[in-house]
Amino acid sequence: MSLNPTHDPAARSWLAAANEAACDFPIQNLPFGVFRRTGSSEAARGGVAIGDAIVDLAALARDAVLTGPAARGAEACAQATLNDFMASGPEVWSALRHALFGLLHQGAEGAGLQAVRACLVPQAAAEMLLPARIGDYTDFYTSIHHALNVGRVIRPDDPLTPNFRWLPIAYHGRASSVVVSGSDFHRPWGQALPPGAPAPVLGPCARLDFELEMGMYVGPGNPRGRPIPLAEAEQHIFGMCLLNDWSARDHQFWEMNPLGPFLGKNFCTSVSPWVVTMEALEPFRVPFERAAGEPQPLAYLDTPANRARGSLDVQLEVVLQSARHRELGLAGDRLCATSFRHQYWSVAQMVSQHTVGGCNLQPGDLLGTGTISGPTHTQCGAIVELSKGGTQKVALPGSGEERSFLLDGDTVILRGWCDRPGAARIGFGQCRGTVLPALASAA
Ligand code: MN
Repeated sequence: MSLNPTHDPAARSWLAAANEAACDFPIQNLPFGVFRRTGSSEAARGGVAIGDAIVDLAALARDAVLTGPAARGAEACAQATLNDFMASGPEVWSALRHALFGLLHQGAEGAGLQAVRACLVPQAAAEMLLPARIGDYTDFYTSIHHALNVGRVIRPDDPLTPNFRWLPIAYHGRASSVVVSGSDFHRPWGQALPPGAPAPVLGPCARLDFELEMGMYVGPGNPRGRPIPLAEAEQHIFGMCLLNDWSARDHQFWEMNPLGPFLGKNFCTSVSPWVVTMEALEPFRVPFERAAGEPQPLAYLDTPANRARGSLDVQLEVVLQSARHRELGLAGDRLCATSFRHQYWSVAQMVSQHTVGGCNLQPGDLLGTGTISGPTHTQCGAIVELSKGGTQKVALPGSGEERSFLLDGDTVILRGWCDRPGAARIGFGQCRGTVLPALASAA
């Protein structure tokens, strides 16, 4: 893929809100999601964010102003999930993006302009839903900084498992408990072995954490038994979102050996509602590089294109807003700021590794990148790292509080955006969730 007129940083929309400097959804972004008007009994359908509005793609498809693959794309988006659109592949995705760019551009005129104006729904009046029916959810573990920081908590003498530098490792997660941003959850119950205790106990999680991640939605799948080569992997990625892999560390660390995370991860995973396409992310490609002394990937995880442009420079931050912050009218304190470019493995390598043994991915499957932590302490994407396993309090200067792990009432907000000279800034919106108290009993 190369840059094209939809990436032109000088392009403006006739919708003024899309041209504001801090707007996540300028005309160069055009992310896809699923929505309906809040409180209505309308059918859910696909939409594209522009400024402070949503282009209702079901309405646009009915108006028949699009033709060819763009029209087929809009028709696929008229459904309650984007799975069929995700399955339709890069040619259709790009055709619809380019058609919408033309209709939303400040130079648009005629019947198409009138039609798209009539299809706008204010974002403030809309309820966002999961963008896809997620058949399977896999969570990777691709930040070497996160792996070392957590490894030091679990195995101080041997923090990094020997496989980490050779393959993007992952566990198969639970699709049923993936929720869209704004869905709150109760602190989970589970079994843990408290420090020094002679036997495990059942109780509410005492070490609740967040994980700053990105998610990818699979586009066209692959037949079972037919791996996706690295050179083709990105044609199978529809786009990316923000993802919070909420984690019950006390439950996780007791249960995870030898088969990996189980209940410590399967009670709730939050995703942002807007999916930013790989085409929109194109200006923010950066080389995939290994630091001196790190091994180069095996041949099946290495291509010239992956080396030249396999990584993505996505700026990310985590904000914690406690109940006390809300009482004081404060937005919260920032816990972390980092970039996706520090990951040890690229998104294409994750897709290729997932299928090398013949596993079939399907449209709408969700792949998490694993916690995104950079090399410094303020770039740590989980509180277990920021608090060094709970041994050091993390200060919340705005409210005067401190945390080792999350407390009831805490809201965690993930944000992501891309910005560089010569390109229009685009954003992911946000992924938020609030910890509600544990239910009175586990059963
Ligand atoms: Mn995770």
